[in-house]
Amino acid sequence: MKEPIKTICPKCNKEYVGCPSLSRVDNETLICPDCGTREALESIGVSTDEIEKIIGIIDENRPKNT
Ligand SMILES: [Zn+2]
Repeated sequence: MKEPIKTICPKCNKEYVGCPSLSRVDNETLICPDCGTREALESIGVSTDEIEKIIGIIDENRPKNT
């Protein structure tokens, strides 16, 4: 059994497991997939309200890491 690697996201300070996203802000910080999605949506001009809705939908459809 492989231990999942847990990482603290420097952007939201939440612990996440799995593949990190590269921040678009400086192209070197590794952030959680949620923040990666958030930055991608911000970069195309999606409003904060819409972003939170989209992240919520993604979370509901993601298999749980428990
Ligand atoms: Zn994050």
